Amino acid sequence: MIYKRSSALFTEAEKVIPGGVNSPVRAFKAVGGTPIFVKGAKGAYLYDEDGHRLIDYINSWGPMILGHAFEPVVNAVIDKAKKGTSFGMPTEIETKIAELAVSMVPNIDKIRFVNSGTEACMSAVRLARGYTGKDKIIKFAGCYHGHSDSFLIQAGSGAVTFGTPNSPGVTEGTAKDTLLARYNDLENVSQLIEVNKNEIACIIIEPVAGNMGCIPPKEGFLEGLRNLCDAHNILLIFDEVMTGFRLAKGGAQELYNIKADIVCFGKVIGGGLPVGAFAARNEIMNHLAPLGPVYQAGTLSGNPLAMAAGLAMLKALNDDVEVFRRLDEKTTYLHEGMSKVLNENRVVHTVNRIGSMISVHFDDAAVVDFDTAAKGNNETFKKFFHGMLNEGVYIAPSAFETWFITDALTYEDLDFTIAAVNQVAKTL
Ligand SMILES: *Cc1c(COP(=O)(O)O)cnc(C)c1O
Repeated sequence: MIYKRSSALFTEAEKVIPGGVNSPVRAFKAVGGTPIFVKGAKGAYLYDEDGHRLIDYINSWGPMILGHAFEPVVNAVIDKAKKGTSFGMPTEIETKIAELAVSMVPNIDKIRFVNSGTEACMSAVRLARGYTGKDKIIKFAGCYHGHSDSFLIQAGSGAVTFGTPNSPGVTEGTAKDTLLARYNDLENVSQLIEVNKNEIACIIIEPVAGNMGCIPPKEGFLEGLRNLCDAHNILLIFDEVMTGFRLAKGGAQELYNIKADIVCFGKVIGGGLPVGAFAARNEIMNHLAPLGPVYQAGTLSGNPLAMAAGLAMLKALNDDVEVFRRLDEKTTYLHEGMSKVLNENRVVHTVNRIGSMISVHFDDAAVVDFDTAAKGNNETFKKFFHGMLNEGVYIAPSAFETWFITDALTYEDLDFTIAAVNQVAKTL
């Protein structure tokens, strides 16, 4: 396919925007070439500036779980916009979405809305520190919790793609309070807790890792973390920015039947507008300003357009009792179809999947943590990415990303994708 106009737009963008993009994962650094500029999208399809239609497996990195330009969301935003776009004063819709979120998610009494997943995780950790009076946190190599300083220590996603696990600008003082553990390795976490007795405020984790490809937790791993936290007065933070309102109505907490102390949201909860949120039981949330001493604020937090989009999205997911089952079935179909054609073409691979999150690793060993994820063959991935693009299928331009399945995909789209994988597999 020819990307003349995208290339021209990218050249212009590079002059005034660092790297031509406002978030590094959008660049094609890991796969080569120039990013594709989007003109619009509807349902499962992207329409680019050069006139191609692409089946979208990124879906804005998760939010578009019901497809692009989902009508209830679009209409809700239009209606709200006509009445003013921001007030810096309370509005009823903030309570409406909070009530709905609290009713859908297990083990939370109150929720605070912010503007991004980064803000949600950053604020959740501050709250955990304020609540416990302890400084250190445990995070897992390859997990991404946004770009705030404490988390840019072996973060997944873009931070790994570009080989800058420890970003310049993060001070040693900050880095020393972030302890790194291996995903799916309970013994490793246990040792860290022993060595840092009474110093750890929280363990923050993606209950299903989605930023080093998709890596589900091993059986017993999340329970083990819950037990360790209970035994040592540590708060367990589930970063459900990716998994929240995606794996189930109540996210990974519901799917795995594990209660977290603080839960972070983003992506789906905003229906495609800039929204994040964090939530917990009263005893923890009441520590937050203006009720308690832990400060957290935002001029545009709870913005009416964002809340309208989020509310329409959550309502749609709450009302459709079949949606998560449908998503699971579609993703399973894609998984089985892709594995079949990759095997027929003798392409060494592993597919990880849970619910509507799926990723393909070009290595045959089980992918269970950052080290095993990093073993995938990147040269093969590059070829695969460009091959798929050429067939009209858009996947994330990095081997460290999960594909997000949208309910807007039809079985025809999935068959088209599997046929594309078959074509591309012959060239790998
Ligand atoms: C995307 C993501 C974030 C960051 O959210 P932003 O809205 O990009 O700031 C945090 N945690 C996880 C698990 C994510 O996938």
